[in-house]
Amino acid sequence: MSRPGDSSFRRPLDAPTIRRTVAALGQGARAERKGQAPLILWMTGLSGSGKSTIAGRVEEALWQRGHHTMLLDGDNLRFGLNKDLGFTAADRIENVRRTAEVAKLMVEAGLMVICSLISPFRRERMLARELVGPDEFIEIFVDAPLDECMRRDPKGLYARAVAGQIPDFTGISSPYEPPEAPELHLRTDAHDVDALAAQVLAELQRRGVVARTA
Ligand code: ADP
Repeated sequence: MSRPGDSSFRRPLDAPTIRRTVAALGQGARAERKGQAPLILWMTGLSGSGKSTIAGRVEEALWQRGHHTMLLDGDNLRFGLNKDLGFTAADRIENVRRTAEVAKLMVEAGLMVICSLISPFRRERMLARELVGPDEFIEIFVDAPLDECMRRDPKGLYARAVAGQIPDFTGISSPYEPPEAPELHLRTDAHDVDALAAQVLAELQRRGVVARTA
């Protein structure tokens, strides 16, 4: 029996045995019923830069405004969907690909999806962007200098990485490619969480996907 990962299990995309099923509901119908514009807020940045903290704050604000949201946290997904993946470049690429595909499905379901994961490589973030419409992907660079992230070290991971106990650790022994033209650039060493979450909300208001008044 072939299993995922066996070359015999993989099939070319144009395999003649599989065709797309056309959904009975038109594109956008599910979002329309929710009365919102679905999208992906893709938060990328170093470990400890503040992605999860800001993602949580933004989700709370959207939720309070009556929006239907979902939070996809990279660390949490590694306990389930991505638990077979490690931190080699190939596994990181697959980690981002799966997360992006799940986010895309959630956009199809009409949700405002917040993805919080390091997603260190530009190419994979670009591929994630291309899965949804041009107005449906907002790349948010959650930026703090490496030494600030190391100083915060909320999970004690930098200390272990520097001691050589964690191989392939982003910023220490594995690269991070900062976004070149993110829709939003949040500097978490210069502003507090409330101010940064407000920047995200302001961008969504500017785009007309979140009402100006709560
Ligand atoms: P990440 O998800 O990027 O790994 P976390 O959100 O888990 O980062 O941790 C970031 C840490 O930095 C938290 O302990 C948070 O309280 C702290 N922090 C300090 N200032 C900020 C800020 N302005 N924005 C976000 N987090 C901040």
